[in-house]
Amino acid sequence: MRADPIQRAIDEDLVRVLYAQDPIAFFSHWFSIAVLVAIYWPAIPSPPLFIACFGFYAAANCAGLALWICNRRYPHVMSPRGWINLHAVRGVLLYSAPGIAIWFAFQSPQSDLPLLHTVMLVTLAAGVFMSNGFDLLNFATAIPFLLFPSIVLHFGTHTFDRTIVAIVLAFFFCAINVYALSYRKLFQQVVQARVDQQYLAESLAVQKHVAEEASLAKTRFFAAASHDLRQPLHAIGLLAASLNDPAATPAQHAKTAEHIVYNVEALNQLFNQVLDLARLESGVTQVIRLHFRLSELFERVGSQYRPQAAAKGLALRIAPTSMVVHDDPVLLERVLSNLLSNAVRYTEEGAIWLGVRRAGRATGGYIEVRDSGIGIPVEEHERIFEEFYQVANPQRDARQGHGLGLPTVKRLVSMLGGELQLRSAPGRGSVFRFPVQAGDASGIVASLNEAVAGGASAQGRQVLCIDDEPSILEGLSALLGRWGCTVRGARDETAALAALADGFVPDAVLCDYQLANHRTGAQALTAVRNMLARAGHEGVVTLLITGDMASAELAALALQGIPVLHKPVTAARLRRTLEMLWQQAELDKGRAAAVVELPAADKVTDAGSKGGSSSKDTGADGVTMPPGAARIEARHRPQSASQEEG
Ligand code: ADP
Repeated sequence: MRADPIQRAIDEDLVRVLYAQDPIAFFSHWFSIAVLVAIYWPAIPSPPLFIACFGFYAAANCAGLALWICNRRYPHVMSPRGWINLHAVRGVLLYSAPGIAIWFAFQSPQSDLPLLHTVMLVTLAAGVFMSNGFDLLNFATAIPFLLFPSIVLHFGTHTFDRTIVAIVLAFFFCAINVYALSYRKLFQQVVQARVDQQYLAESLAVQKHVAEEASLAKTRFFAAASHDLRQPLHAIGLLAASLNDPAATPAQHAKTAEHIVYNVEALNQLFNQVLDLARLESGVTQVIRLHFRLSELFERVGSQYRPQAAAKGLALRIAPTSMVVHDDPVLLERVLSNLLSNAVRYTEEGAIWLGVRRAGRATGGYIEVRDSGIGIPVEEHERIFEEFYQVANPQRDARQGHGLGLPTVKRLVSMLGGELQLRSAPGRGSVFRFPVQAGDASGIVASLNEAVAGGASAQGRQVLCIDDEPSILEGLSALLGRWGCTVRGARDETAALAALADGFVPDAVLCDYQLANHRTGAQALTAVRNMLARAGHEGVVTLLITGDMASAELAALALQGIPVLHKPVTAARLRRTLEMLWQQAELDKGRAAAVVELPAADKVTDAGSKGGSSSKDTGADGVTMPPGAARIEARHRPQSASQEEG
């Protein structure tokens, strides 16, 4: 990947180094011409040839300077390699003249001229080594022209001292080549180190920018989150304090309690949205693709949002489709719930349209949610996908949402392998669309809206609760007791095993993740399950409650077949999850053959969907499900919020 930039950097540096020496070389060559002419002057052999040769030498020297000027003035007329090649041509022309001119010395009657000329050539060769040694081409084209004629002619004299000179010259030629080789290697290493450093500096600058952006986004996230979380907390504090007012009537107390519940629910929704986003980020949520009819999913979400739309006088139109898709219905429903919720919220008149279009795709299509609402200015199209960003809610009024819906949708769509597209302008409505994969009708194993057979009521169930916090055990016992369950509380694993040894056979075991004495809920549940299995009670529902978001840990728990419920846990969510798990257990027992088989890789998904009258889809309801439960959840979720909350 980076070989080319390095070669280019080497070439660029070479051009700089080679041409930088040329003005000095220009004067050195005039000096050489002057010296050579001076030593030949007393008796110039073959004057016309001599004049032609030295005239050519002088012209080549001037051409070298012209080339240097061109390079200075027009460095970009050719590539660095082009300049290097031209410089090599200049070398051939420039060094061939003095090199070949030694022939005149051997023609001369003066016996010391060959030696004097050779000394001149060795001096020039040293200059070439210094100025052109960095580049093989420039070095290799100059040195042989300078030294070879001299070596050959000295050898040709067949006298002892000239043969010695020829041998020394040949040795010098070899040595200078070896030195030039290491000179070139060193040069390349220096350039490579410089390029690496530059590359590192650039990538560090990019990373720094990304880190700064992330830090800014985090700051914005926490600022908005802490504000939105503080508001209902503040209200709850004030309302709770007013409960102590002895002058308040029972009716006022009831009203205050109602407000507290409302604020707790608001807080809960916000927590769920934040946790849902965090779960998507942490990679715990996995995609489980099923073949299903898109019309069924449209029907489900349509029925959730039609009453809200109708209440605002809006028509919710669902385009009929017979398309079968291969996608994750749970995640897809969360996407559509969020988009429809926004469409209803930001549309005052007209209609909302939900449908699928082929839009030029050979297979599958694009699901579109359109509205005739207020629209979104183009300059906000990117920012609305940032956490807590809202176009027009400067007071951060919680009733107008929190700005977490679209970031969630965007992540979900990208998890499903697509890209969320937006077309919108103020006053002209909005269109959100994303691709879906085509499915295969023969791959459909169950209708999305199929109801679960068999009752899964909490009435008459035995539940073992493990938590080291007595107040939580007390709260759970009271709640489950109201649902008609028989509850047994245990502070730790040992107490839980003692309860089992006592003959208590639970239908469900609820366990906190962090227990006392460095024990985890996963360890306690494993011990309980093993003991129950030894006693012949297989398939007891187990549920872990955690505030932890560590994905590796959660994934490991899911692999052990332990569903995880994320704190904060509301009564409705707990009940819904327990009923779902009991349904799952009953179905596993009675209808094992009917359960959809999934590939081993499709393991865990968040389950549940919270549609509902006023809330955005908070997504996973804080539940991470093991493979089996996820399958059931995908097929048999309760259909509306009211059913769920009941
Ligand atoms: P929320 O709706 O809870 O504020 P979202 O993340 O879902 O948060 O949306 C972010 C912002 O994008 C909204 O505050 C709203 O300004 C804008 N927006 C989203 N959907 C629409 C829509 N269908 N029409 C107009 N504006 C929208």
